[in-house]
Amino acid sequence: MENVIIIGTGCAGLTAAIYTARANLSPLVLEGRLPGGQLTTTTLVENFPGFPEGIDGPELIMAMHKQAEKFGTRFQYGVVEEFEHAGTHSRVKIDGNWVETKSLIIASGASPRYIGLDRERELIGHGLTSCATCDGAFYRNVPVCVVGGGDSACEEATFLTRFASKVYLIHRRDSLRASKIMADRALANPKIEPVWNSIVTEYLVDEAGEMRGIKIANTDGGTESELEVKCVFVAIGHEPNTAPFRGKLDTDENGYLVQTKGTATNLPGVFAAGDVADHVYRQAITAAGQGCAAAIEAERWLADQEG
Ligand code: NAP
Repeated sequence: MENVIIIGTGCAGLTAAIYTARANLSPLVLEGRLPGGQLTTTTLVENFPGFPEGIDGPELIMAMHKQAEKFGTRFQYGVVEEFEHAGTHSRVKIDGNWVETKSLIIASGASPRYIGLDRERELIGHGLTSCATCDGAFYRNVPVCVVGGGDSACEEATFLTRFASKVYLIHRRDSLRASKIMADRALANPKIEPVWNSIVTEYLVDEAGEMRGIKIANTDGGTESELEVKCVFVAIGHEPNTAPFRGKLDTDENGYLVQTKGTATNLPGVFAAGDVADHVYRQAITAAGQGCAAAIEAERWLADQEG
């Protein structure tokens, strides 16, 4: 029986690990499909306090990982397949094996959302991606597009101008949702061409199965046109990673875990931190803050059980 299992190694999970490890709880941290979480797919993080020159996302995560390890955190690779709760403890199934724990901190984050068009799954890696940092350098001196109007879309579009000959920024409205600083930076870049009031309706694929362009429709009148792009970078938000908990833990209408008091969920000893529960702030620093809160709450809950 573990004291605490932490699911996820993004900012929330690693901060929870640092705190619970320093509290001598010897946490077991499960690293899932994207070790390090979303920060590993970003470049410079300019708004994490303490780094006036900014810090690379992967570097920040590696430092947190090292800090968690230093205090005795145990890490294990594995995806949680199932979850059960039995009043005083929980259990999770990892790669076919059940592991029991007195408390559980779910920090499994959120995954990129795709548009939902035909052939989408097969095109991922063949001119369709959600990660400019990972795939941008493959598309040098060719036109590409970014779909979305938030901070991610602006950040990805700006980053891609290092490689691509042109970056179309396709947004379904006529103004960006992104913060002013990021929107201004993107729109001032001569390589970025915004395509307003437009949605992607079809991926155009060549004989080799690679992206060669897209069809877009104007949201006003539905007029369709084609754009030649070698890669489509989708930045239209995220879905919380809650599959094993559905029907067992309360979620809101968008599938995010509901926190009842602090980071507590509706089940005793089960806490949620970061993007799996937070659809409002979704920042590295707020995820880290929730990881800290979940660790302190788990520690108090364990102490109450023993006392
Ligand atoms: P987001 O803010 O939710 O923006 C998603 C964008 O995609 C919106 O513009 C939305 O359009 C559009 N969209 C959603 N569904 C769509 C669909 N089916 N088809 C076409 N367009 C669609 O997501 P995000 O940009 O990933 O940002 C998430 C959070 O991370 C935010 O809190 C953001 O501030 C933060 N973030 C921060 C930084 C930074 O500070 N360095 C960098 C990246 C992200 P509408 O505008 O019409 O809704």
